[in-house]
Amino acid sequence: MRKTSFLGAAAAASLLFSPGNAAEPDRLAQALEGHVRFLADDLLEGRGLGQRGHEIAARYVASQFASLGLQPAGSEGWFQRISFAERSFSSDRETMVLTRGGRKTEWLNGKDLVMSPGNVEGAETITAPLVFVGFGLRDTSLGIDDFAGIDVRGKIVVALSGAHPGMNSETAAHLARTSKAVTAVQNGAVGLIQVRTFQEQGRIPFDKVASRGRASSRSMLGPDGAPLGDGAALKVRGTLGEGAAVALFEGAPMSFQQALEAAAKGPVKGFDLPGTLTITRAQKIVRITSPNVLGLLPGADPRLAQEIVLVQAHTDHIGIKADAPPGTDNIYNGAMDNAGGTATMIETARIIASGKRPARSILFFGTTAEESGLLGADYWSRNPTLPIGRVVGVVNIDMPILSCDFGDIVAFGAERSTLIAPVTAAARGEGLTVSPDPQPEEAVFTRSDHYPMVRAGIPSVFLKTGHSDSKGGQTCGAAERDFRLNRYHELGDDLNQPFDWTAAAKFARLNTDIVRRVANGKQRPLWYAGDYFGDSFAPTAAKAKR
Ligand SMILES: [Zn+2]
Repeated sequence: MRKTSFLGAAAAASLLFSPGNAAEPDRLAQALEGHVRFLADDLLEGRGLGQRGHEIAARYVASQFASLGLQPAGSEGWFQRISFAERSFSSDRETMVLTRGGRKTEWLNGKDLVMSPGNVEGAETITAPLVFVGFGLRDTSLGIDDFAGIDVRGKIVVALSGAHPGMNSETAAHLARTSKAVTAVQNGAVGLIQVRTFQEQGRIPFDKVASRGRASSRSMLGPDGAPLGDGAALKVRGTLGEGAAVALFEGAPMSFQQALEAAAKGPVKGFDLPGTLTITRAQKIVRITSPNVLGLLPGADPRLAQEIVLVQAHTDHIGIKADAPPGTDNIYNGAMDNAGGTATMIETARIIASGKRPARSILFFGTTAEESGLLGADYWSRNPTLPIGRVVGVVNIDMPILSCDFGDIVAFGAERSTLIAPVTAAARGEGLTVSPDPQPEEAVFTRSDHYPMVRAGIPSVFLKTGHSDSKGGQTCGAAERDFRLNRYHELGDDLNQPFDWTAAAKFARLNTDIVRRVANGKQRPLWYAGDYFGDSFAPTAAKAKR
C-alpha cells in the first residue's frame, strides 16, 4: 500500500512540476528542503570532522553529483581525503613559567592564559627567551614591517592582538589572521603569544576566552605527514590574560599599559622582554581523515572550458556537544550552517547541469573542515586536484539565513572585482538590491572557504541574505540577529527553525544565475586595479578599472 501511494504521489508531482511549468520554484524549494532535512538529521550527528555523520554527508553530496552526471574531480574519485592531527592535552595542567633573575612566576592554562596543544606526542618542556614585536605584522605593499630590526630567532614572539588602528577591516583581519604567524615562522621564531589590545578586551572578557583554554585543536597534515598551514612550525601558540601580560612587560622599555596606549594610536615598535618562558605540558595526538568532495561540469566552449568557476559549500559542522546533560539534545545539527548552503550548491549544480551547458567548466566543491579553520579549502588550494591556475572565479555558499523572505543581499568581496556585475544583474533579476556590508568589523570576507582561494589570487564572492525583507521591512535583520546571538554554533541551529523554503529557492536561483553569468561571461573575472587582495595575491594578473 505504502509503495503504491508513494508512486501515485510521485506521478502527480511529475505532472504538476514538469519542466517549463510555472510551479518550478516550488519544486526547487522542495528539493532544498529534502537535502536540508537529510543533512541536518540527528542521525548525521552534527557532521563532525572525522566522524561517521560527516562521512555520510560527503557520500550524499557525491551521490548527488553522480546523479547529475558530473565528473569525479577529487584525487580518489569524488573525494580528496585529507589527514588531520587532532591534538588534545593529556596533562592534568599546563603551565607557563616566567623566569626572571631567579624569580619564577607560574601561569596556568585555562585561567591565566590559553594555549593550543603542541605537535609533539607526550610530555614536553620548551624554554625560550621572549621578544615583543608590536602588532607583529609585515606587508611590504602597505609599508608595514613590525619585525624590522628585531631578532626573533629561537625566541617566543609576543604580539598585540589585531592590527594597526585605522586599517580597512578586511585587510586588518587578513593580516591579523595570517601575517603574525607566517612572519614569525619566516624569521625563525619558535612561538607566538598574543596579548590583547583595549579593543579586544572590550570585545570579550578574558575569563570567557580562558574557559576554552584546554580545548583540542586540529591541524592538517600534508601528503608527507608533516603539519601544514600558516604557523604550523610554531611550537607554542597562545594568548595571555591581562594579569599575566602586565607581569610579562615588567622591566621592559614600556609597561603593558603604555604599550596598549601606544597601540590604540598606531604601530608600536618592538623590544626584547627580560627573562625566559618555560612551557610544560603533554599532548595526545589522534590522526583522523576527512574528505573534500569534488564534481566537475565540463564547459561547452573548447577554449573557455579550460577555465573553471569554483562553487563551494562546506559539508562539515561541529558534531556532538560533549558536556550536554544526559537525556538532553546534544547534536549540533548545523541546519543553516551549512546544510542550507550545501543544499544550495547541489541544486545550483542540478539546475545548471540540466540546462544549456555553460562555456566555462564549473567545479562544485563540498569542502570539509571549514569549522576547524577553513582547512579543507586551504588544503585544496595547496594541493589542488585540478590546476588551480585554471580557476578564474569563486562563488562560496556558507550559512545563508533561510528563515526570512529577504529583499536584499550582501555580496562579500564582490566590490573588489568585476564579479560585482554578475552579482548585481542576478540580484536585479530576482527583484533584490545589493546592500553594503552591515558589519564591516566582523570581516566576514576572511571567514569562509573562499578566503584560501583569495589568497591563491582568485576573485571571489560570498553571498549572504540581507536585513530587509521582501515587503520593505527589516524582519530579516531581526532573523539574522536571532540566529547569530542564539543559534549560531548552538544546538538550536536545527530543523525546528522557521525555514522559508521559497526564500531558500530564491537564494539558490540567485547563486545559480551568478555562477551561470560568470561561466558564460565574455571575460573572466578580474580584480579591480588598486584592490588590496588583488594586488597582494594576483600581482601579475590583468586588472580592471573601476
Ligand atoms: Zn560554522
